[in-house]
Amino acid sequence: MFLSEVKSTYKEDISILVKLDNHPWNYLCECGEAKKLTVKDIQNCNAIFISHTHIDHFANFDAVIRNQIGIQRKVTICGPSGIAKKIQSRLQSYTWNLINEDAITYEIREYVSENKIIIYQTTPPSWDLKKVGEIDSNIIFKDAFFEVTGILLNHKIDTLAYKFKEYDTIKIDLDSSGFNGGKWIQDLKDAFKNKEKKKIITIDQAEYIAEDLFHLLHVKKGDSVGIIMDHAANDENHSKIKSHFYQCNKVFIESFYLERDKEFAITNFHSYSTMSAKIMNDSEVAHPIPVHFSRKYDQKEIQELTEEFFSVSSKQ
Ligand SMILES: [Zn+2]
Ligand SMILES: [Zn+2]
Repeated sequence: MFLSEVKSTYKEDISILVKLDNHPWNYLCECGEAKKLTVKDIQNCNAIFISHTHIDHFANFDAVIRNQIGIQRKVTICGPSGIAKKIQSRLQSYTWNLINEDAITYEIREYVSENKIIIYQTTPPSWDLKKVGEIDSNIIFKDAFFEVTGILLNHKIDTLAYKFKEYDTIKIDLDSSGFNGGKWIQDLKDAFKNKEKKKIITIDQAEYIAEDLFHLLHVKKGDSVGIIMDHAANDENHSKIKSHFYQCNKVFIESFYLERDKEFAITNFHSYSTMSAKIMNDSEVAHPIPVHFSRKYDQKEIQELTEEFFSVSSKQ
């Protein structure tokens, strides 16, 4: 299960922290101003996901560097085409003569298209970019428990929307099986996963056909969290959102304007309260959360915007 939290206060930009329960790392989505983001949050970050580099999504990257330098491990940064150069420019704007090369390694993954991601690495003090590989899918990050896929949306520039998807897991109902635990459980799960119905499973020296024991297993569906930042509220973006985030458990979605200001949304390639809620309904998202509001709004207007969103949203 994912734990996710907005780390920006209402007048700040946007920053969301995602964690997997019983998992040591943090995953930071967006680098906007965020007072609630602690030094420890930043230092425990294993990967950073940036949708685009408008200043409200990238301004706090300096705080990230400031607090990560010296952690002596690799941190992955994901973003749209051009992100590697932009990260390098930020890094090279400081002087690093007192910093060793092993202080940190940034691995930067540029999402070029849905089947091309280019991977670079960079280290201090020169921060030269070295191309180290390519990925020919839309899976921009993965570990043993979950993967993150991306889609590009139009915001007058490309913005990258991310979906964190925990892998499904196979569980066994041991209590009602009448058997003792043992190595056979993993053998049975492997047989189920690999569709080896006729595999022999040995339990306490007795042999069973795997498919005769499959009724003891069930699949626990993995959790999912979406991060949809700035995007124009148009049909093309909505159809991409609907297919990528269909039945996602929780989605944070940009809802920059009140409905009465939707003319600004159209001009600025942004979305607005009721339209963001509608696309979440159409995508059958269980827990949609409106985020990233224009800074021209006061707290009362943001309350109004949130109410507009939930007046349309079929979910709370
Ligand atoms: Zn933007
Ligand atoms: Zn923005």
